[in-house]
Amino acid sequence: MLTNRQDLRPSGFVAKLRKQLARTLACGFDGSKKEVKDSTSTTKFSDVKGVDDAKAELEDVLLCLRDPKRFAHLGGKLPRGVLLVGGPGVGKTMLARAMAGEAGVPFFTCRGSEFEEKHVGAGAKRVRELFTTAKKRSPCIVFIDEIDAIAGSRSSQDSKSHRHTINQLLVELDGLEQNDGVIVVAATNNLDSLDQALVRSGRFDRHIQIHYPNVEGRRQILEGHMSKVWC
Ligand code: ADP
Repeated sequence: MLTNRQDLRPSGFVAKLRKQLARTLACGFDGSKKEVKDSTSTTKFSDVKGVDDAKAELEDVLLCLRDPKRFAHLGGKLPRGVLLVGGPGVGKTMLARAMAGEAGVPFFTCRGSEFEEKHVGAGAKRVRELFTTAKKRSPCIVFIDEIDAIAGSRSSQDSKSHRHTINQLLVELDGLEQNDGVIVVAATNNLDSLDQALVRSGRFDRHIQIHYPNVEGRRQILEGHMSKVWC
């Protein structure tokens, strides 16, 4: 029989169970509370210094983002995915942001590691959600930083969840139409570490190598940053 109020309190286990249930109801069964959101980039091509070759290679992508229907009408063909390859800090993220800023389109950004989930199917679900939202906001850029985290070569040791995630990414890439206006830009430090299926023709088949800047490039970068400090 219950003798005092203390006995009416749920035991530690029941309280924990309640808390977990409330969290699950709020976040979804995969625990993914994060909403897919885009941002507006104010970075422009002129802010990214010393990478003129990379900028030139992205000119047609900009044309398409500004007017995807007209671009398709004129017979322009774009890669579905653009891979920016270069060491840490060379400006891959900045360049992707600048593309969105220059074209005036929404910028979706995420990291490869964000798709790693312990629940099978959760990473794949996130990939699906990302592309569904991006298509609604097109023309736009979807930027996946450190894509190696989800798209490293598949091996027998990979978890089921990892394989589901990369398969979903391939499905989404294949499902993009020329005039969808969704350009997927991904960044990696090491092209060789990526799954071959991902870099095959029709997927991430444009690779833009960004090298560390030379002396002149470094001077321009320094000048660019200093001008913001002085004025
Ligand atoms: P990555 O994505 O390649 O690791 P980031 O784009 O995050 O590199 O660059 C880190 C920072 O270094 C940027 O926010 C910017 O301030 C500076 N930076 C790197 N490359 C450039 C560049 N080419 N021009 C101007 N600033 C640069």
